[in-house]
Amino acid sequence: MLKARQYKSGVKPIWCPGCGHYSVLNAITKAFAALEQAPENAVLVSGIGCSSRLPAYVSSYGFHGVHGRALPLAAGLKVARPELNVMALGGDGDGFSIGGNHFLHACRRNVDIVYVVMDNEVYGMTKGQASPTTPEHWEHSKLTPHGPEVRPFQPCAIALAAGASFIARGHSGDPNGLAQILFEAVQHPGFAFVQVLSQCVTFCPEQAAWKERVHQEDHCTRDPVAAARFLHGDDGFGKGIFYRNPRPVWPLVHAAAAAADLREGFRL
Ligand code: SF4
Ligand code: MG
Repeated sequence: MLKARQYKSGVKPIWCPGCGHYSVLNAITKAFAALEQAPENAVLVSGIGCSSRLPAYVSSYGFHGVHGRALPLAAGLKVARPELNVMALGGDGDGFSIGGNHFLHACRRNVDIVYVVMDNEVYGMTKGQASPTTPEHWEHSKLTPHGPEVRPFQPCAIALAAGASFIARGHSGDPNGLAQILFEAVQHPGFAFVQVLSQCVTFCPEQAAWKERVHQEDHCTRDPVAAARFLHGDDGFGKGIFYRNPRPVWPLVHAAAAAADLREGFRL
């Protein structure tokens, strides 16, 4: 058994002091400790962005991919090596804009992986541009001084519509609650989507007020209609597991046989 701190790699994070992603890192290591996760059997896969640096800070295998492509990498790895615990990670720009297409199809396909999106409603690494989840009238970017004037993307509702079988939201201000959600997400058989409200202190200092707005929602259901009704009325600050409805994971019988053939082919 390892303690949570023993899942840290020893590489010092270069996030800004106070960035929400430190708490997400702590939550992941706490969840791994609770799961008694063997480090050599865990793989964290990311795209590009501040949050996508996270795999370097965990003592497991990691793959820092290209922008928006964490999900196809993670899904391919899980199909090729089903015995591994695969977690994809990234931010809202990486996952919902550049990688938006992959997000939809990962939900639909239901490969047995976890996808954690650290959502700070901004492109942090490239210095504060509006992202898909930026509020319509956010006026703090020089590129969109009157706000993006576009309705924000609704990650959980879209995940439900696209077929995700586990949907949850956590908050970086509550690493223990997030660790509990991740503990459940890792054990869920199928695609588990976890949105994390993780504040960017540098470009969105106003997000410090999120802690006043976040509230617990004990609303977990396996009924997609009830989940849709809840998510469409949600203010975006409820945290908890909203939907859990296991269904067959991909690859199914024929695709699994094809994947086995492919693996055999690569061994030659
Ligand atoms: Fe975190 Fe924002 Fe700094 Fe990036 S720019 S490390 S998201 S606080
Ligand atoms: Mg972001």
